[in-house]
Amino acid sequence: MDKIAVYPGSFDPPTNGHIDLINRALTIFDRIIVAVIDNPSKRALFTLQEREGLLKEILSENNRIKVESFSGLLVDFVDEHKAIAILRGLRAVSDFEYEFQMALMNRRMKPQINSVYLMPSTEFSYLSSSLIREIFSLGGCIDGLVPDRVKSELGRKLNRNQLNGNVD
Ligand code: ADP
Repeated sequence: MDKIAVYPGSFDPPTNGHIDLINRALTIFDRIIVAVIDNPSKRALFTLQEREGLLKEILSENNRIKVESFSGLLVDFVDEHKAIAILRGLRAVSDFEYEFQMALMNRRMKPQINSVYLMPSTEFSYLSSSLIREIFSLGGCIDGLVPDRVKSELGRKLNRNQLNGNVD
C-alpha cells in the first residue's frame, strides 16, 4: 500500500522552502498531499483558491503530489485520505514549541497518525512566507527564494492592492 503523507500549511505564498521540504519527503513517502488551509489566525494575502491554484501549477509535473484545500480537523483529513503521516518543517528552535504542541494534540486524537518533521536546506532555513511578503512589498529581491510564478503573482497582487490602497 502507498505510504501517503499530508503536508498542511497556509502557503501564503508557496516558497522554495516548501518545495525543498516536499522533495525531501518524496524520498520517504510514495505520495504527498499538500493540504492548503485557511488559518483564521493569519490574515492571508492570497485567497485559498489562489494558493491552491499556485501550488497546483508549481507541482503539477509530479503525479506523486496532489494539492487540495481543506477546512476542519487535520487528523480527519489525514484519515479520509488514508495517509499515515503529517509532514511539517522545522526551520529553527522557534518552530519547535508550536509544532510539539500540535503533534501531541493530533496524536491524542488519532494515535495511529505520526507527525514527521524535516529540515530544509540551510539556504531556506530562514525563509518564511511572511518574510517574503514583507521583503517583496518593500521592493527587496526575492529571486531564488520563490518559484518565478509566485514572484509574478506577488507583483500582480501587490500592485493591485497598492492601487486599491489595501497594502498592510
Ligand atoms: P502554517 O501557517 O501552517 O505555518 P506555512 O505555509 O507557514 O503554514 O508553513 C507550512 C509548513 O511548512 C510548516 O511546517 C512550516 O514549518 C514549513 N515551512 C515553511 N517555510 C519553510 C521553509 N523555508 N523551509 C522548510 N519548511 C518550511
